[in-house]
Amino acid sequence: MTRPDVIVAGAGIIGTMIAWHLVRNGARVVLADPAQQPASASSATWASAGGLRRQGRSAADQPLTRIAAARWPGMEAELDADLEVSLGGHLHLTETEAGLEVIRARVATDRAAGLDIELVEGAHLREIAPEVTPRALGGAWTPGDGQAHPGRVARAALAAFRRAGGEARLGAPVRLTRGAAGVTGITTGPDALEAPLTIVAAGAWSLELLAGLGLTLPLRWRALTMLLSDMAVPGLLAPTVTAVGRNLSLKQLRSGQFMLGGNWMSRPTGQGLQALPVDTHMSEQWSTGVAVMPRLARQRMVQVWAGAEAQSPDGNPLVGRMSMPGLYLAAGFSNHGFQISPAVGAAVAEDVARGGHPLLAPFDPHRLDATDPDALARFHSAPILAVA
Ligand SMILES: Cc1cc2nc3c(=O)[nH]c(=O)nc-3n(C[C@H](O)[C@H](O)[C@H](O)COP(=O)(O)OP(=O)(O)OC[C@H]3O[C@@H](n4cnc5c(N)ncnc54)[C@H](O)[C@@H]3O)c2cc1C
Repeated sequence: MTRPDVIVAGAGIIGTMIAWHLVRNGARVVLADPAQQPASASSATWASAGGLRRQGRSAADQPLTRIAAARWPGMEAELDADLEVSLGGHLHLTETEAGLEVIRARVATDRAAGLDIELVEGAHLREIAPEVTPRALGGAWTPGDGQAHPGRVARAALAAFRRAGGEARLGAPVRLTRGAAGVTGITTGPDALEAPLTIVAAGAWSLELLAGLGLTLPLRWRALTMLLSDMAVPGLLAPTVTAVGRNLSLKQLRSGQFMLGGNWMSRPTGQGLQALPVDTHMSEQWSTGVAVMPRLARQRMVQVWAGAEAQSPDGNPLVGRMSMPGLYLAAGFSNHGFQISPAVGAAVAEDVARGGHPLLAPFDPHRLDATDPDALARFHSAPILAVA
């Protein structure tokens, strides 16, 4: 393709979903990434826990959350692939009376926003999750939430993009090119490609891509740690689990292994966006899992990894046209970027075609331009290893 309508730089879950939806809408699209395939180490999509949780989400992203949630049950059919989608619900539990108030508040807020969420206690809670700690007093329960395999989804979205006529340029360094009137396209290895619009969806690497244009984004990057247990009998834990006051996300995979996440940070190595897990964090992360599901004490931790994600000061991504002509940004997805990705793909494709998409308005990439510089400096200098 010599002159596509749109170039998408970055083939993580956000870039592949955007590219796939653009070609579905009839655009001629090139998707470029220096990695050989989507969801390569150490991207956020590669590291991601793959949780599909609707509860506890900000008002800004509830509409996209809802649209995405309606599509996840049919995503394997849409993409014609096994994505390890499992919709066993999500349980946000508490072990304290004070925590029950937090749960009640979440249930009230989310129910008022139209979510099918309920407070579960006693026998009902044990029926949903028999293996969680007997200390659990109650939980916010959203049936229909669950998990999927982020790498599989991104690779399947790339395959669907190609089947629909999109062209992927993978495995060669990608840089943005700029002319007098703004961004003109990219170079990928020795080749230059021009397009009227270039979408930067390069996760934490968007910072350096835009720095090449002299632009500074109000984003920082952090590396989050994931742990994996050895095999256990599959089916012990159907829902995905989080807990009030505990830094933990817990789920059981199809293989029977347990996966533990949370905001446990790894230490940057100083080599690009690479990071190495911190021993003390790993052991605390594991013991948090054991506290919430005592049965985990019988398992061994067999794998650990960390992936780089871009974070914005208000926790919401930056999505939309930049004031520099020819440039569109879709970066800064953290925490729940995987869950909303199909809705983001569809919304961005419509926004590119028609502009002014109402569901993307809260994510205007220039909304933080007027942020107090001191507050921004504090955001950037927040301890890189702090546990949230
Ligand atoms: C440990 C962890 C657990 C998570 N758990 C969940 C969860 O349970 N549920 C959920 O919904 N979300 C979760 N998230 C968040 C979610 O995974 C991310 O928001 C999402 O994967 C971000 O995708 P992305 O495509 O924006 O970025 P990435 O996946 O980081 O992709 C960026 C891509 O850009 C490419 N790139 C690098 N340099 C360039 C360049 N110069 N030009 C072009 N491309 C380039 C990279 O190779 C990569 O492919 C988690 C994140 C982490 C880190």
